[in-house]
Amino acid sequence: MDFDWTADDVAYRNDVRNFLAEQLPPGWNGYDKHDLPRYKKEAKAFCTALAEKGWLTQSWPKEYGGGDASPWRAAILSEELWPIGEPRGSQYMNANWIGPAIMFAGTPEQKAYHIGRMSKGDVFWCQGFSEPDAGSDLPALRTRAVRDGDEYVINGSKIWTSHVGIADYIFLLVRTDPDAPKREGISILLFPIDTPGLDIRHIDGFVGEQAFHHLIFEDVRVPVSCRLGEENRGWPIVQRALSFERIGAAHYETARLILEDAVATAQRNGRIEDPEVQTRIGEVTALIEAARMLTYKVVDLRAQGLPPTADSNVARVAQTTALQEVGMLAADLHGSASLESGNDADVRNVLAYSVAAGATEMQLDQIASRWLDLPRSK
Ligand SMILES: Cc1cc2nc3c(=O)[nH]c(=O)nc-3n(C[C@H](O)[C@H](O)[C@H](O)COP(=O)(O)OP(=O)(O)OC[C@H]3O[C@@H](n4cnc5c(N)ncnc54)[C@H](O)[C@@H]3O)c2cc1C
Repeated sequence: MDFDWTADDVAYRNDVRNFLAEQLPPGWNGYDKHDLPRYKKEAKAFCTALAEKGWLTQSWPKEYGGGDASPWRAAILSEELWPIGEPRGSQYMNANWIGPAIMFAGTPEQKAYHIGRMSKGDVFWCQGFSEPDAGSDLPALRTRAVRDGDEYVINGSKIWTSHVGIADYIFLLVRTDPDAPKREGISILLFPIDTPGLDIRHIDGFVGEQAFHHLIFEDVRVPVSCRLGEENRGWPIVQRALSFERIGAAHYETARLILEDAVATAQRNGRIEDPEVQTRIGEVTALIEAARMLTYKVVDLRAQGLPPTADSNVARVAQTTALQEVGMLAADLHGSASLESGNDADVRNVLAYSVAAGATEMQLDQIASRWLDLPRSK
């Protein structure tokens, strides 16, 4: 197997680095999320500039405003953007899975309306999946959408929703048939976040202010035409989308940056001389490189046009394991200061990523039950 990047890929990575140096101030490490209007304005300007370069949705088909580029290009972009604080804001989700889900299951009208705006960098989305009693067991979701003529009436709630403060649209999972088996009564609705009846409350927490929201739906009316795919057939679309989301962010690069920073601290305070510290640094380095290789395996499958496999769950587990271990090592080497930085790539955030996009235990559960067909314990 050839692990070298092609000369074109190396040139592309250099172009991206030069672009970042032009677009962002030196040492930039994430938006100030206390000032949401400014955050949104700056993230939008960045995405528009990225779209003008042809890089925002470069791996999408040309007919959808993409560039037919190899998924490797999107992986390189993610490696350059994610560890410095993701200047696309939530638009990384548009490129990775929301746009592809609409291309896969959308009506011609939905594609015409949403896809063009995404490929120009004009629009921010959030994902309304988790509920107070449906996180790991997502198919147990209970937010109801009841048909009333040409509309659905939505009642229920979503929790831990990220990016709501800058979102224009929500990708919402609802239950449309409460009597069907739980995976067969779910539909997807796409509509503006400022639709009347949707109450948005912030949840400040471990990963910073404005990070999470509680959404309460009280008789929210949306047109039936905003449904993605067939009624009650939303679950397979979601599963496909989640397999893209799992490896959409290059967490191994974030882990590498955190490790470099922690090693620099250990060199300054002399702890680098401790053989136990050296062993841990070696182990974490191996975990990060394993996560990188397992992620590359998924990118390779996608580049060959093959469907998602257990490899995306395996890559996700490897990424979150590397993040957990580097987070613990960094917390030890920096001391309590590591919990105070507030950067996107800080220790608090990396620990939370083993819960986001499906907790690590659930990834292991899926590998066992869905892919290896192992029996459940009694
Ligand atoms: C940074 C971050 C961003 C997020 N952004 C969003 C978002 O934008 N939109 C959204 O909808 N959600 C979002 N979430 C929510 C996330 O998807 C859920 O937190 C996650 O699915 C886990 O659900 P839960 O919090 O209800 O935990 P629970 O499901 O209650 O799980 C708690 C613990 O129990 C374990 N557990 C549960 N069931 C089992 C089992 N059967 N076997 C073994 N272990 C089990 C889990 O692994 C976990 O460690 C985000 C979460 C984080 C941390």
